[in-house]
Amino acid sequence: MAGIYIHIPFCHHKCLYCDFYSTGKSKLTDDFPSLILKEIELRKNLIPEEKVETIYFGGGTPSLLSFIQIQEILTGINKHFAIEPNPEITIEVNPDDLSKDILRGYKSIGINRISVGVQSFIDDELKFLGRRHDANKAIESILDIYKTGFTNVSVDLIYGIPNSSLESWEYSVNKAIELNVQHLSCYHLTFEESTPLTRKLKKGFINALDEELSIKQFQILREKTNANGFIHYEISNFAKEGFISKHNSSYWHGVPYLGVGPSAHSFNGKMRQWNVSSLDQWSNEIKQSKCTVQSETIDDTTKFNELLLTRLRTIWGVDLNFVAHTFPKKYSDYLRSSISDHLKKGNLIIVDESKLIIPPDKYFVSDAIIEDLFYLE
Ligand code: SF4
Repeated sequence: MAGIYIHIPFCHHKCLYCDFYSTGKSKLTDDFPSLILKEIELRKNLIPEEKVETIYFGGGTPSLLSFIQIQEILTGINKHFAIEPNPEITIEVNPDDLSKDILRGYKSIGINRISVGVQSFIDDELKFLGRRHDANKAIESILDIYKTGFTNVSVDLIYGIPNSSLESWEYSVNKAIELNVQHLSCYHLTFEESTPLTRKLKKGFINALDEELSIKQFQILREKTNANGFIHYEISNFAKEGFISKHNSSYWHGVPYLGVGPSAHSFNGKMRQWNVSSLDQWSNEIKQSKCTVQSETIDDTTKFNELLLTRLRTIWGVDLNFVAHTFPKKYSDYLRSSISDHLKKGNLIIVDESKLIIPPDKYFVSDAIIEDLFYLE
């Protein structure tokens, strides 16, 4: 099984907190879909003979492409790969790009999962983040998505926003639950280097939210989602039964994927590759049938550390027997010795005899726990 990720690197404008690679929508040219398909043709052998189970349009803002352009890309993917029956096909959308016609278009070309970048249902918070939509537009878009017949809807929310409160966060979570979304992705606001928000923070114009308050917001999130039948399957991801994102899960399960478009990452089990973060360079090269990617071959230590990093953030955890059978003995010995203190402190637990997991109430400090288990040469 494999996944295809298509990075659509265009945005109306840059949100104040965002450090994903994207450029202005004026750079979106009519030949963009054909360039994506050309890259697929050039690089499809990264995942040879794999059946494609998930296709994901991420960004940037994929909803800036017309559904005809999306259809062109999907049709091309179908020509190059064997596709599993009923693949999961996701598109990330911004609420302000949607209309009933666009949604009907998405439905007609086989998109079956919509991920809406809501971020908050509080207008002041949306303004603070530099988002263009307001809460009403987000609600209207989600209702339209359902009216069009979609049954698999995910909403992104951000907590830890400066000046947010427990009440404002609870309001946003409740609103998403009331709207009957099947999936929630909730991320803590991070102050990434060189974003406008971080510059404001450094200049003292804004203050980060108190960490205790962030932790309480996370607790509220867990309580509310738990009480409403969501499975907390990864630190930031919550799904109703049957709606765990197949595409995102494949990253945590080590399933190969081909990522195309500027700045997209790929993985085939043996190596990781990433594209240049420049639309101009990427498109100039693709036009000349070239594609410069940086590569990293994954040695045992990287593979071991990545397994910890990805799986310990999920309910699937790390199977100690799998580690013992898959890696040289030194890694298994190291892991057994390095987890003992954390087991005593309750930072880690073993369930089903061999499955090592971080209990969800320790997710907030999971980075420190995982880093402490990394194998260092
Ligand atoms: S958060 Fe999304 S919409 Fe905003 S700039 Fe980043 S990629 Fe674009």
